[in-house]
Amino acid sequence: EFQPSSKVRRLPEQFFARLEKQAKDLHATTESVINLGQGNPDQPTPEHIVEALQKGAEDPINHKYAPFTGFQYLKEAVATFYKREYDVTLDPTEEVAILFGGKTGLVEVCECFLDEGDLALVPDPGYPDYLSGVALAGASMHRMPLKHENDYLPDYRAISNETFEKAKLMLLNYPNNPTAGIATPKFFEETVALAEQHDVCVVHDFAYGAIGFDGEKPISFLQTEGSKNVGVEIYTMSKTYNMAGWRIAFAVGNRSVVHAIETFQNHYYCSIFGAIQEAAAAALTGPQDVVQQCVELYEERRDVLVQELHRIGCPIHPSKGSFFAWMPVPEGFTSEGFATELMEKCSVIVAPGNGFGEAGEGFVRIGLLESTERIKEAVNRIAQLNVYGN
Ligand code: PLP
Repeated sequence: EFQPSSKVRRLPEQFFARLEKQAKDLHATTESVINLGQGNPDQPTPEHIVEALQKGAEDPINHKYAPFTGFQYLKEAVATFYKREYDVTLDPTEEVAILFGGKTGLVEVCECFLDEGDLALVPDPGYPDYLSGVALAGASMHRMPLKHENDYLPDYRAISNETFEKAKLMLLNYPNNPTAGIATPKFFEETVALAEQHDVCVVHDFAYGAIGFDGEKPISFLQTEGSKNVGVEIYTMSKTYNMAGWRIAFAVGNRSVVHAIETFQNHYYCSIFGAIQEAAAAALTGPQDVVQQCVELYEERRDVLVQELHRIGCPIHPSKGSFFAWMPVPEGFTSEGFATELMEKCSVIVAPGNGFGEAGEGFVRIGLLESTERIKEAVNRIAQLNVYGN
């Protein structure tokens, strides 16, 4: 038996890998499991994107290694997308890096900018892979609590000057997973000002960029003046276009960050299958109606969930964006305890909030990734527990 490196030993069990295993075990023994635990879009990839992949797969140019840093046409498609959606101008060559999915990019950017002993500012609760990136780099983190009373934005006044001075990297994510909060222009302006003042590199994870509710389109960090001087935005195809299995995303913005990511990747990978790059370009520049349809679908599910949970006495706040809901656990339960109760007594899987950080204790995350009927059924099963004083 071989002892893995200290790098590997530093890594905790991956939170979603654990959830996936739990779900598999439950499916093996129980019928009618309702899995609201994971963040896997339930709708298929739009047909024209699949067709672009099929066509690309037949083209011999894609049977060879693709260019190291990706095809230029894809970088141009990303620039077209940012101009069309956010009125942000990007230099396709210098300001766009192509990534093997957002998850990989987020871990890579930590490896690129954190040395052992460095400090990163990380949202709490937050997407668990931020912690993986920081752990792999051997850095430490300062957690920024996201609370309802502050609209799930970090309170920068609670962070000392000394901490800001020490920090090298700050990770942010709006629309937020797991709290479903959204950012405001003012918050991003403050972020840019602080990052400039303290020389912190900002990485804004815009995974749910397309998913805003109540008619509100989520804003891109790059719409903020000066943002390109202080960081990048990571945009994945997984959620906007139901392409989670395809593994493709982008980092856009600051040239030195884009350059570092590309340098790092050149030693790890030899680009992405060209047919996937063609499909991604087709997604970014082709018809966008499916995106809006999905947002409407998630919003309808959110409304049903909130209505049903209020009916049984659960004081949940309606999500503003992303495809998650952040549900307070009933009195007397921990996050983990409530998730286990739901799994064992209701065959309903949810993600315990403490898996997203210390400040996630007291909540579970629900994915709006099942039909409204199944969501209603899940709440009916929860109602039978009589835990919300209903
Ligand atoms: N960031 C957030 C907040 C996410 O929720 C996810 C996926 O669940 C990702 C990034 C990574 O997405 P992907 O690796 O599929 O691009």
